[in-house]
Order: sequence, then structure tokens, then C-alpha cells
Amino acid sequence: MTSIKNKNIAIIGGGPGGLTLARLLQMRGLNIKVYERDVHRTVRVQGATLDLHYESGLKALNATGLMGEFEKHYRPGADLMTITDKHAKPLLRDTESREGADARPEIDRGPLRDILIDSLEPGTIVWNKRFQSMQRNENKWLIAFNDEYATEADIVIGADGANSKIRPYLTTLKAFFVDITVIEGAVYNAIEKAPRIMKLLNGGKIFTLGDSCTLIVSSKGDGSIAFYVGFKSEEDWAVTSGIDFTKPQEVANWFKTKFAGWSDIWLELFENAESPIIPRPQYCMPLDQDWQAQADLTIIGDAAHLMPPYAGEGVNMAMLDALELAEALTGPLFNDSLAAIANYETSMRKRAAETAAVTLQQTELMHSPNGLEEMLAFFKS
Ligand SMILES: Cc1cc2nc3c(=O)[nH]c(=O)nc-3n(C[C@H](O)[C@H](O)[C@H](O)COP(=O)(O)OP(=O)(O)OC[C@H]3O[C@@H](n4cnc5c(N)ncnc54)[C@H](O)[C@@H]3O)c2cc1C
Repeated sequence: MTSIKNKNIAIIGGGPGGLTLARLLQMRGLNIKVYERDVHRTVRVQGATLDLHYESGLKALNATGLMGEFEKHYRPGADLMTITDKHAKPLLRDTESREGADARPEIDRGPLRDILIDSLEPGTIVWNKRFQSMQRNENKWLIAFNDEYATEADIVIGADGANSKIRPYLTTLKAFFVDITVIEGAVYNAIEKAPRIMKLLNGGKIFTLGDSCTLIVSSKGDGSIAFYVGFKSEEDWAVTSGIDFTKPQEVANWFKTKFAGWSDIWLELFENAESPIIPRPQYCMPLDQDWQAQADLTIIGDAAHLMPPYAGEGVNMAMLDALELAEALTGPLFNDSLAAIANYETSMRKRAAETAAVTLQQTELMHSPNGLEEMLAFFKS
């Protein structure tokens, strides 16, 4: 193990990456605090279901010793995919889940987060702490949060997602816009509010492609539906569109115009969505990014390698980062944290760049005029 045994480690952000890392480091007896901006743990966790991959997300989860809990909470059948055209006509339907190394078991974000939170020692997570700034004070970081709370740490790890406030302390490199905006929404009590979609979903996922646009819908264990629409746009579309995203009916009206000719089944989503519907311009970190390693600071997950969601790799990469960083910091290979962090970062950047390249290619294909045919050919092969 590197010389971090009695150091205080602050993880900023309690998403899948930060929590997995906290668990792995705490299992090895290290002093960990996670500072999370959410007010408390019961804040409703939004977002589509997550498929964990054998070689990354599941591998990391296995190392946390929490596979037993995962098996209680994952959702068999939620991985079964239906590909439809814009008229909601099913063109390909999975009939059975993939197995072994190809398995992609699905779990909702909320239960995954709960499993990880419950595995931590009480008091590990400090809620309602939005990171604001930090500065070095002798050999420590002095960290300031939203509510004038301040604390010290020997090592800071940024796991604070796409708009990381920790990343700028390592690099000035910024993500680039990938010409796609995603609009993300949720429908609660979907069996009543979106019955036709629920029937089509059949407990799984829908991928719909047409007119260079995508619509991805997934059913969740709490009876809700998560959905996101992707389309080519200017970077500032969410502002220039003039849509008030707190008013789902305004988004539904936009959908009717932009997606003219699509089945009206899809309106079940927009007309019943919870407010607000969230527009998310899509970004990707540069594939050739590099920075100078620091002995007391690093980043994991989206903070390090944000990419569009179309290959389903974001959570998997974040959890694998956590595993590789934990192994570098606590394994036998490195004597000091600088060497451990430098090694982790070099291999993380290479792996993330390879994954991002595939993701960008897939994102482009899915939002091209032949997106539907390409997707069908991909899955048939
Ligand atoms: C619409 C959509 C669909 C997606 N679908 C998939 C999918 O199917 N599969 C997949 O693998 N990935 C998917 N992703 C990507 C995935 O959500 C991310 O890659 C993943 O959540 C990254 O994990 P993380 O822990 O790095 O960051 P996050 O999950 O973003 O977690 C960051 C945490 O830090 C906290 N935080 C942020 N700022 C601060 C601050 N200043 N101070 C303190 N705390 C802070 C946040 O509240 C949050 O809890 C999708 C993303 C989107 C937008």
C-alpha cells in the first residue's frame, strides 16, 4: 500500500463512481468522507436504468463484496430490448437475456445507490455539501462548501460528474459539444398514465430511431418510466428554443412539430411527464486529454471522461475507475500516491478514450438518416 494509511481522503460526489470508491477504500481501512450536494439520501433518484457490464461495472461491484445485494435488487428482464420504428412498430425484440460475459443485468439508479450507501460506515457521507473551492494549506487541502462549512483533507478525489468543480484543479481541458441534445423525462405511475408504452415496453427497454433522431424508454422498478429523446442541434438549443421545460405541455407541443409523422403513442410520455423535463446538451471529453499527475488529487467517472450515453458505458467506466484507483492506491505495486495516481490516470485516460471513440461513432450512427437500419444490423449480427 502507498503511504496513505492514516491520511484523510475526501471524495467529492456520491454518484456510482464516488460511492464505489468509498466502499473499496473503506474496506481497506482508510479514512474516507464523501461530500455530496444532495440534501439527503432520500432525494428521488432520476434517470434511466443502468446495465452493468461484466468487464467493468460488475467487476467493480464484485470487488465491493456486494454482489449478493445486487442480486436481490437487479431487475431480470429489464435488459430485454425492443427496437421500433417511429410508428412504434417493433422490428426486433429480445426474447431472452444475454448470459455469462455478455450479460448486461439492469438495476435502477436508486437501488444501486442504496446498496452502496448502506455498505459504508455510518457518517461516511456528509450530505448537503456542495463543493465550492479549495486551496492548498501546507500539505493539506482546505475545502469550502456552499454553507460556509470547511474541512481539511490530505487527498481529494473528484467524483462530481459532468460539470466537475474539481477537474479544473487538474486540467483546463474542457469537454466538446457533440451536436446532440438529449431531453430527459420521467412518467410516474406509468401503468395508468402511459399504458400503451408500458405494453410495448413489456418490462424492458425501447429503442426507437427515425429521421436522425432517437427515443430511448425504460421501465423502472418503482412503476415509473424514464425516457430520453436525442436529436441533432446547436449547442444552445435549450435556450434558443424558448421552451419552458418546467411545462411538459410545451415540450409535448415541440415534440409534435419536430417529430411530425411519429406515432401518437409517444405523446403518452411528454403529456404525462413530471416537471421539469431536462434538456441536456451532450458533451465528450477530448480523446487525447493529458495532464500532470498530482500526489493528492485525482478525478474519476464523468468528471474525468464524460461521454454521450449511447453505448451505456458511463456508469461502468466510473465504477471501473473506482476499482483501478483503489487497487493502485492500496495494492503492492506503488510506494507513493503520486506513482499510484499517475499510473491510474494514464491507464484510465487510454481506456476511456477507446470507449469514447466507439461511443461517438455509435452516437453519430444512431443519429444519422440510416440509424434504424444500422442499429438493426448491429443487433442482428
Ligand atoms: C440521459 C442519460 C442516460 C444515461 N444512461 C446511461 C446508461 O444507460 N448506462 C450508463 O452506464 N451510463 C448512462 N449514463 C451516464 C451515467 O449517468 C454517468 O456516466 C454516470 O452517472 C457517471 O457516474 P459518476 O459517479 O462519475 O457521476 P454522477 O453519477 O454524475 O454523480 C456525481 C455526484 O456528484 C454530486 N455532485 C455534483 N457536483 C457536486 C458538488 N459541487 N459538490 C458535491 N457533490 C456534487 C452529484 O449530486 C452526484 O451525486 C446516462 C446519462 C444520461 C444523461
